[in-house]
Amino acid sequence: RMNTDLGQHILKNPGVAQAIVDKADLKQSDIVLEIGPGSGNLTVKILDKARRVIAIEQDPRMAAELTKRVQGTPAAKRLDLVLGDVIKQEKLPYFDVCISNTPYQISSPLTFRLLATSPAPRCCILMFQREFAMRLFARPGDRLYSRLSVNAQMWAKISHVMKVGKNNFNPPPAVESNVVKIVPKVPRPQVAYEEWDGLLRVAFVRKNKTLRSGFLGTSSVLEMLEANYRTLCAQNDIPLDDGPLDASSAVDDMEIEDDATLGADEEMEVDDEDDAPDFFKEAVDRKAKKLQGNPHRKKRGKVAELVRNKVKKVLEVDSELADKRARMCDEGDFLKLLYSFNQEGIHFS
Ligand code: SAM
Repeated sequence: RMNTDLGQHILKNPGVAQAIVDKADLKQSDIVLEIGPGSGNLTVKILDKARRVIAIEQDPRMAAELTKRVQGTPAAKRLDLVLGDVIKQEKLPYFDVCISNTPYQISSPLTFRLLATSPAPRCCILMFQREFAMRLFARPGDRLYSRLSVNAQMWAKISHVMKVGKNNFNPPPAVESNVVKIVPKVPRPQVAYEEWDGLLRVAFVRKNKTLRSGFLGTSSVLEMLEANYRTLCAQNDIPLDDGPLDASSAVDDMEIEDDATLGADEEMEVDDEDDAPDFFKEAVDRKAKKLQGNPHRKKRGKVAELVRNKVKKVLEVDSELADKRARMCDEGDFLKLLYSFNQEGIHFS
């Protein structure tokens, strides 16, 4: 009956449900966003404490069950049930607090979405699979350290609320869960989210490689930075010398490789594959072709060379981070890197 593809593991322990709602410290004036209310075990408890609940549920059968559950009660008119996929909602409605027993397939996109939400909610109480929760807490050098870790810790204070064993669910999921509290920082750090996240996307596609390799060793990254640089120049009426580069000074994009330095532990890498945009995946294929000696290699133009030199200067001179690996960089390193790139007119969004 239950559709486990939708991550439908109903929280059957009312004590745990109550503890989750209590942790949100709800005020009577609060608007609460609930993701995936299912049959409403959390929803009815939230409705007891808050002014309004906006619940987004993808499964019509679950939505019908919840509607029936509240029908005829005074709480019914304080519940807005939205039928649909939360990830596909163009804009989330305003909310003060988010509570979610999160379907595991959308943990990552949902967390990014919540971190980018403006105005920021007061807090989010979210149930995740244990490993995902550990990724939120991971520090530089930890096996689970990823783009998600850096982002979460940049924009919010993350704290652990409780462990929840699999037998508290029906049906029990394969893994244990943790409840986590995310409190967005106020005021928000004065960094453009798209720029910051754009930089992290590039850095973490190859998080075990040096930043030199990540930024200069992938032609699709340089192509993206070049396109952004052209846009910047066009918007600011900066003329560009756009001629071809003479053959002698053209360097192979793929000259930088440091695979030989990979250590044994790095095979256990947990990638951000769910976050990587398609052009990076394509880049991997393209790189493979180039290494096989593709004779149709595109020659770089003058603008590409200019951008490449700027990137090189930022990595080697301005930030001195060229030899560091993304998995070892902390928030301060990435901030320094972004600042130096932006100073040179290099943008990630
Ligand atoms: N909140 C309920 C509870 O704690 O008992 C149910 C939790 S169950 C883990 C996750 C719920 O999210 C399911 O009802 C499922 O249909 C719904 N869901 C899954 N993916 C979704 C999505 N992308 N958007 C909205 N709801 C989704």
